[in-house]
Amino acid sequence: MAGGGPGDQGTSVPQVVTPQQVPPWLRRLAAAVIETTSVWVNQLGAIGPDDRRGRRFGAFGKGSIIAFPTGSIYNERWIRIGSETMIGPHVSLTAGMALLLTAAAHAVGWPVVAGGSAGVTDALLVELGRLGGTVETGRWVRRLDDLPSAEAVLLDVAPGSLPDLVGPTLPDAYRRAIGRFRHGPGVCKIDWALSGPVPWAAEACRSAATVHLGGTVAEVAESEGAVWAGRHPARPYSIVVQPGVVDPSRARPPNETLWAYCHVPSGSDRDMTAAVEAQIERFAPGFGELVLARSTVTAVGMAHHNPNNVGGDIGGGAATVLQTLSRPVLRWNPYRLPVDRVYLCSSSTPPGAGVHGMCGVAAARTVLHDRFGGPPPFAR
Ligand SMILES: Cc1cc2nc3c(=O)[nH]c(=O)nc-3n(C[C@H](O)[C@H](O)[C@H](O)COP(=O)(O)OP(=O)(O)OC[C@H]3O[C@@H](n4cnc5c(N)ncnc54)[C@H](O)[C@@H]3O)c2cc1C
Repeated sequence: MAGGGPGDQGTSVPQVVTPQQVPPWLRRLAAAVIETTSVWVNQLGAIGPDDRRGRRFGAFGKGSIIAFPTGSIYNERWIRIGSETMIGPHVSLTAGMALLLTAAAHAVGWPVVAGGSAGVTDALLVELGRLGGTVETGRWVRRLDDLPSAEAVLLDVAPGSLPDLVGPTLPDAYRRAIGRFRHGPGVCKIDWALSGPVPWAAEACRSAATVHLGGTVAEVAESEGAVWAGRHPARPYSIVVQPGVVDPSRARPPNETLWAYCHVPSGSDRDMTAAVEAQIERFAPGFGELVLARSTVTAVGMAHHNPNNVGGDIGGGAATVLQTLSRPVLRWNPYRLPVDRVYLCSSSTPPGAGVHGMCGVAAARTVLHDRFGGPPPFAR
């Protein structure tokens, strides 16, 4: 453990020179050296189609580049990158996630909730009520002091909310660490009311509740790569959900409901309706004629609706390999905050979003262990 407590008084403190104390000529020289070196390092470290690492990919289009420092890259032989695509620094690329989701789809399918996702909340409320719990909505918690005293407090928030919520008792080292936490791209979401089912050209899509609409894998990579590079894709890779395929309660026949989202750069206020509709029209000619009404929420709107969606990121933080294992910071138990009785249970903890509440399960096990004599949280 590092020292730094009151007992350290009187020990000699090393002299630290701040950048402001360095003479201007030396700062200019250092800046020039650093800039030149970093350009050189970035160029050498980037991956292009003719590099040894580039050749490991399923396809690596002409003029494309994966900028340095690269994120983690797995299963590159399954990844196909289109031409003239720039993938920004720190971006993780993996075909494993897709394989995992595909395996899950084969094993149990991708369910949608009968009547809408609010059904999950309603079911949890019934269970909570049965156990004697109550829920209070419509009240914003600004400080921990706003909450009644409790054996444990579980915060379902993005890491950036913690400093204000917890206040000065949050240690500086932890503040600095969550300051390095990275959020992922935002999403732009569109809901439609349709006069009939989507006329997909591919028969299989007509009976699928969720359609991952992207064209070829190269097009998907190009679309996602554009977003990570801060651009809005012309042909956005879109998740399209037609719940009526399995849940007739969603619309009165012959009408249908449909929703979709695509990734956009963090904090974007771009309305992607036209681009997403063009994508659907491309694979389902005649779709546009079925639209009775539509409603769009941009990434900024997503963040406004729920501050956990920082910049429109609905995943509680970028799903890089490092951040999947150590989110929001590297700690033996990331659910336990360095503040007595306070825990983090949001999707900004492992294993992250997309795994249907497992962050909360792990946080709850930690609390049961710490405060109520339960078994160790990671015991089998
Ligand atoms: C369109 C869409 C589709 C998705 N599809 C899937 C999917 O298929 N599978 C999947 O696993 N995930 C999916 N997700 C992601 C999933 O919804 C999120 O990962 C999950 O809801 C995150 O849960 P959470 O508990 O971290 O935070 P949230 O669900 O955001 O809950 C936190 C709540 O706390 C409130 N809050 C925050 N701060 C405060 C405060 N200070 N005071 C009071 N209240 C506060 C917020 O307003 C919010 O209501 C989807 C998300 C969207 C938007």
